[in-house]
Amino acid sequence: MLLLKPKSTQLCLSRLIFWQNCLRNLSTTSSHCSGKVHDEEDDDKDQKFCDTKENQQDHLYLYKSKGQHLLTNTRILDAIVRRSNVRPTDTVLEIGPGTGNLTVKLLEAAKRVVAIEIDKRMVDILHKRVAEKGLQDRLHVICKDAMKAEFPQFDLVVANIPYGISSPLVAKLVYGRNPFRSATLLLQKEFARRLLAKPGDSEFNRLAVNVKLVADVEFVMDVSKREFLPCPKVDSSVVMIRPKAQVPDVNLDEWWAFTRTCFSKKNKTLGATFKQKKKVMELLKLAKTAMACKDYESDDDYDGDNEQEKTDEEDGFASAASDLEMTLFKEKIVGILRTGGFEDKRPSKLSNEELLHLLFLFNQAGIYFHDHVLAKGSDNVEFAAAYSS
Ligand code: SAH
Repeated sequence: MLLLKPKSTQLCLSRLIFWQNCLRNLSTTSSHCSGKVHDEEDDDKDQKFCDTKENQQDHLYLYKSKGQHLLTNTRILDAIVRRSNVRPTDTVLEIGPGTGNLTVKLLEAAKRVVAIEIDKRMVDILHKRVAEKGLQDRLHVICKDAMKAEFPQFDLVVANIPYGISSPLVAKLVYGRNPFRSATLLLQKEFARRLLAKPGDSEFNRLAVNVKLVADVEFVMDVSKREFLPCPKVDSSVVMIRPKAQVPDVNLDEWWAFTRTCFSKKNKTLGATFKQKKKVMELLKLAKTAMACKDYESDDDYDGDNEQEKTDEEDGFASAASDLEMTLFKEKIVGILRTGGFEDKRPSKLSNEELLHLLFLFNQAGIYFHDHVLAKGSDNVEFAAAYSS
C-alpha cells in the first residue's frame, strides 16, 4: 500500500501547523527531524494518489524532487527577514513559498509579496493560511515553474529556494532584466560556499566567476539541516547577492562563451585547454565568421543579392581549414596566452580582471568565442538555461 512506502514523507497538516505553533510559542530551536523524503521516480504515480487522498485525510506528501524541505525555526525565519532589510514600500519576490512559513513574515514586513510556486497543493495551503491572517491583499501567487515564469518587477528576493534549481535561478536573477536591490537566498551550504569562493579556492568555478562579474555575494549565516522538515541530507547557508552598480563594459555573450571555454577543465592550464585541436578548430571557424560579418558591415556597396553568394563562399572556406592554417592559428592563440602571461595559469586561480584582460587580448586579435550568427536574437535567458540541471 502506498501509504507504507518506505521512501515517502507524509505529514499531517494539522500536526505540522501544531508543531510549528509549539515551536513559535517556545521560541526554541527545532531539533525534531522526522520523515523520509519522497523518491523522485515515484512522483507522478504518487502525486495522483496524494491529490485524491490528501483532501480527505488532511495529509501532505513532500517531494524530494521538488526540494520540499520546510524551514520551521521561527527565529531563523525572523533573522532572514531582518537581514534582508525589507522596507514597507518593497515588493518582494519569493521563489518556492511552500506552506508559507517565510511568506507570512515577509507579508508583515513588505508592501507586497509575489510568490512563485510550482506545486498547486502548496498554493492552496498558502492562500488559506494567508487569508486567515487577513494578509491576502498583499500576496500574488504565480503557480508555475520559476525557471519558466516571467519575473515581475520586484525590489528584493527573499527565499528558501528548492536547491535543485539553484544554479539556473541565481543566473536568471543576476543576469535578468529586472533591476533589484538584493537577493537573500537560503542555499545548500556547498553551493553557497562556491558562490562565496575567491580565485584560488578549490570551490571557485564558472558560476562564481560569472556571478562575480555583475554582483557581490555576502555570507549571512549557516542553517543546520535539523531546522527543516523533513530533515535533508545537507546543511544550508544564507547568502545575500547584491547586483553591482557598475558592471564591466564587456559583451556578455562573449564573456559567457569565453568562461565556458576557460572553465571546461578548470584545473587544466589555459595553455592545455586552448591548444586542444578541437578548440583551435572551433575558434578558427568563429574567427572566420566574425571576419566575414565585419566585411559585410563595412561594405558600402552592399547589395542584398550578393549575400547568398558570399555566405556560401565563406561556409566552404571555413569548413576546409588546412593544416598550415590550423598551425598558424594555434600559434596565434599561444602567442596571446604567452604575451599576457597566461599560458601556465589555471582559470580557477585568475581574478575577473585578469580574465577580462585575456578576453580583451583575444578579441583585439580577432579571436572570438561566441557565435554571433547562430545566436542572433538570444538574450540573457540563454545564460540561465546553460546552468539548468
Ligand atoms: N520556502 C518554504 C518552502 C521551501 S521548500 C519554506 O522555507 O518552508 C521549496 C519549495 O519550492 C516547495 O514548496 C516546492 O514545491 C517549490 N518548488 C520546487 N521547484 C520549484 C520551481 N521550479 N519553481 C517554483 N517553485 C518550486
